[in-house]
Parts: sequence; C-alpha cells; structure tokens
Amino acid sequence: MYPHPGFFFAAQRAHRLHKQVERRAQLATIAPKIFRNDYFDVRKPLEHIMIPLAFSAPGQFWRGNLHCHSTHSDGVLDPEEVCHRYRAEGYDFLCLSDHFTGQFDYPITDTSGFRTKAFTTLIGAELHSGAMQNGDLWHILAVGLPQDFARPDAPDFRAHPGQESGPDIARRARDAGAFVVIAHPQWSGLTLDDALSMDAAHAVEAYNYECEVSSQRGDGFHLADLMLSEGRQITLTASDDAHFKLEDHFGGWVRVKAKDNTPDALLAALKSGAYYSSQGPDLHHIELRGAKLVVHCSDAVAIIVQGHGSATRAVHAERLTSAELPVERFRGGGWLRVTVVDDKGRKAWSNPIWL
Ligand SMILES: [Zn+2]
Ligand SMILES: [Zn+2]
Repeated sequence: MYPHPGFFFAAQRAHRLHKQVERRAQLATIAPKIFRNDYFDVRKPLEHIMIPLAFSAPGQFWRGNLHCHSTHSDGVLDPEEVCHRYRAEGYDFLCLSDHFTGQFDYPITDTSGFRTKAFTTLIGAELHSGAMQNGDLWHILAVGLPQDFARPDAPDFRAHPGQESGPDIARRARDAGAFVVIAHPQWSGLTLDDALSMDAAHAVEAYNYECEVSSQRGDGFHLADLMLSEGRQITLTASDDAHFKLEDHFGGWVRVKAKDNTPDALLAALKSGAYYSSQGPDLHHIELRGAKLVVHCSDAVAIIVQGHGSATRAVHAERLTSAELPVERFRGGGWLRVTVVDDKGRKAWSNPIWL
C-alpha cells in the first residue's frame, strides 16, 4: 500500500517552503532593512533570491591594488616605498606585479617583509610571452604566484617567434595557484579572439588607471561584455598599474570580501569572485529578488545595470543610495552587471551576475 503520489508532492512542497523561509531568516540577518516587512509572510508567493558572493560571503571588505610596478622592473619607486605609499593611503593590501621579463632578470618581487598588522601583500608578477593577434606581446597579471614559477624565454617587451604562448603561460600561472587577469585589453589592442583564447583567465582588467591617465586607453568593459555574451564566466578588476612616473596611483581598486586580511583568504576570495571594483563609490549590497535587482550603495547620481548587447536599465537622481530595477530585459542574454556613478563621475562596478 503506497500513499497517493500527491502526498509526496505536498510533502516536497512543504519542505521547500520551509527551506525558503529558513533561508529568508538567514538573509534577514545579512540585510534586515531589505526584508523587514514580508520575510515571514508565507501567504505571499516566495520570490527567488540570489545574493552575489561579495555581499553574502562572511567577512568584511578589504581594499587593495592588484597591479603596480617598482624599481625591480620599470617603476620609479623601490618595493618598500611602493608598499609604504599604499599603506599610508589606507589600503589593506597590495600586489606588486613587476614585469617578468629577462631585461629585469625575471622578478617576482618579495614584499612579505613589508607586511604589518593592518597591511598585507600578495606576491605576483605581470607575465609576458607570445604575440597577440596584432603582433604585440601579451600582458597577463598573475596575483598569488609562487617564487619558483618557471621563467619563459621572454627577454624584452617584444614578442619573439617560438616563445611560449600567452594562453600557455597563463595556464601555467593558474595551475601554480595564481589569480589570472587579462591586463589592460584596450591599451594592448586585444581582440575578442585573443581574449577567448585565454582560457585560464579568471578576470579581465576592466579599468586600468595608468592606461587611462597615460593614453586614454583604460577601458576593459567593452571586451569583458563581449566575453560575457560568449558565455565566458570572467570577473572584472580595476587597478592602478602604478609606475609612479605620473599621477597613476590610487585611482582604481578592488574591495575583496574575506574573513581575514591574509594573502590566502584574499586570493581565495578573488578566485571565487567575492569582490567588486571602484574608483570611489562603495557597493553595500546587491541582490536579485524575483524579477527585480536591488542595489544599495554610497551616495550616487546613477545606478545602472548592463547586460548582453544593448540591454541597459538605469535610475538617475540628484542623490541615490538604493534602487530597484527590473531584470526581465537581461534574461535572454544570461548575465547582468551593475555600475554606480557618484556626483564626481567616479564609478563602482559589480562583478557579473549570471541569470
Ligand atoms: Zn602591462
Ligand atoms: Zn603593468
């Protein structure tokens, strides 16, 4: 004798409902303001809620710069002074990423001696090997690189026949534990084919402050958007690429969500996408709630959602700290991301959210 199949469906539904209510109670502890009115009201149809890791993972945000140079390659300050400048500016961490080429004797600059209680460093380098489609040399950021990472045959800033390819050295870096970023794609003249060939990349450098200041080629969002529309689940970084030859520092950073400001915790969070990027504004909370995207941020004049093709939605006002935007327009493209603009024109950018 078996119970009627309807019994199972009812039991499953009750279990699901219970789990959803439980989940809402958990979420309420994360963001009580957003759920204050209805999260226990089970008479209303429950909405699907998704919170990106940057806003749901435990811990706090740590501000850091992932990309800059010292006298160990073509920067003008020694490694200790670079660390000092970022620490004095209030950064929580830094990755010094000198150019890993023969002319500089393949530096992987050891900054561990400049760590303090309140400031840490990730070990990394900017890798170079092989030609992009335009014939120029690849630039690939590797954050969290071991000191014994094997050298390519990359004597200088030119691509040479027979060198290890860009995608191959990037794969080696990822296998060695690094967070791999396609550096300054607009400055490099990168094509979409180049970018798609870089299968080991975790992220695209969507904003490079030095490239913006020096050559007005700091953008990486156009290429990143095309990659996202090809289904590539990359995340987005902003960084300084500071050489301290120009006013090229403190203009773009990441805020990484982690329990501790330690290299291991930061690196794991970067790889998982638990971070966002900024030139100034802060993102406080983002969640996908049914057919709406809810955004909370520091003072802004625009909150914009971008997706596949020409899909965008925005709210503009003299002063905004939150917005709810419909996401229906983005469903077909499969992804969206958020940009917040403050009254000085500075932006903060979320990582992509997959629908
Ligand atoms: Zn570079
Ligand atoms: Zn660089």
